[in-house]
Amino acid sequence: TAAPSETSAFWMPFTANRQFKAEPRLLASAEGMYYRSVDGRQILDATAGLWCCNAGHARPKIVEAVSRQIATLDYAPTFQMGHPLPFVLAERLADLAPDPLRHVFFTCSGSEAVDTALKIALAYHRVRGEGQRTRLIGREKGYHGVGFGGISVGGMVNNRKFFGAMLPGVDHLRHTLDLSRNAFSRGLPEHGAELADDLERLVQLHDASTIAAVIVEPISGSAGVVLPPRGYLERLRAICDRHGILLIFDEVITGFGRIGGAFGAERFGVTPDLITCAKGLSNGAVPMGAVLASRQVHDAFMHGPENAIELFHGYTYSGHPVAAAAALATLDTYEEEGLFNRAFELGQAWEDAAHALRGLPNVIDIRNHGLIAAIELAPREGSPGARAYEVFRRCFHERDLLIRVTGDVIALSPPLIIEPAQIERIFSTLADTIRAAA
Ligand code: PMP
Repeated sequence: TAAPSETSAFWMPFTANRQFKAEPRLLASAEGMYYRSVDGRQILDATAGLWCCNAGHARPKIVEAVSRQIATLDYAPTFQMGHPLPFVLAERLADLAPDPLRHVFFTCSGSEAVDTALKIALAYHRVRGEGQRTRLIGREKGYHGVGFGGISVGGMVNNRKFFGAMLPGVDHLRHTLDLSRNAFSRGLPEHGAELADDLERLVQLHDASTIAAVIVEPISGSAGVVLPPRGYLERLRAICDRHGILLIFDEVITGFGRIGGAFGAERFGVTPDLITCAKGLSNGAVPMGAVLASRQVHDAFMHGPENAIELFHGYTYSGHPVAAAAALATLDTYEEEGLFNRAFELGQAWEDAAHALRGLPNVIDIRNHGLIAAIELAPREGSPGARAYEVFRRCFHERDLLIRVTGDVIALSPPLIIEPAQIERIFSTLADTIRAAA
């Protein structure tokens, strides 16, 4: 059970690393809905790892596929070479995605998928002779990973302020957070779609013909689970269409059954030009991300520049055989077990259990959609995040429950194989620990 001492293991977000060094929590193994800690406790996973193990842990089909693949073809070069699995996987993804998004570029993470999507959007306009479209629009409090593209379009100011120069020509839409907070509303907020018109302001300010793309998470996860008001995403789509701007949905969290169906785009009934995904794509078992693009976007550069060498992008591990095998087995598992329906089947029980926490001390908002929920706590005076962190600590150390906290928001996103009794356990444990942290 040795905790890492003064070693060079430096893999966590810097801020989390400090807490971890003071109070290490190490996981040793996992199966289904549970982790096992190094001290032998069985921990109920209410966060699907980090929003990624949507089918639960160590699922046999995925384990088998990864083992088989690594013994058969562990790696194939990505330049001038390939292997069959990414083609099979692309076909499967295209069948799950909204109709025109049938072209897939594979990456190794969500951050890479975002940087790739931004580059594709910029290249798309350039190849079509609209090279003046270089601006990118993100959203306040948006989270798009930690690449320079992602932190530039991302709206978590703390994630970028120490890191020097960002991409030029980026602006941010106002967020809907303040509107959707304090409402205790169930499901999506009914009001606030007009905030999408903030894009009109940016279009006027910058001149529409200079804007390449708008990128948003359908549901902002890292900002503390911010739900889009009904009609908000539709309005963004309409404004982008009017001005020839590409719309990118970052579905790293909302993809693969989290809110029901394969992608949030489908659930919200809005089709973007590009989707970024990762996490649930390979069930967290092996790193993988992807960008899904429409034919129009894909064709622009696949048939575009005369000299293809001028248009270069790709990773050593794009379409990695082991990741592709893991993803295919993951998609099989989702399909065979009907996991994309779980958010519909369990959504009401999940919502009722979450909203039963209303009225507990310091609970100032509860938000939910699909199998996502957020319980927002009033910050302790002078110590933002401390109360939620205490709930997290109590859950983990005293009650064998893993939750996630981001600021003063408790964010829940269990594996989709969760059973009703486990939903009950999560929220009754939260009720006790929130009271204890009052
Ligand atoms: N986009 C979104 C919406 C995310 O939630 C995340 C990760 N939390 C990322 C991008 C980055 O993914 P990764 O950590 O795999 O690079």
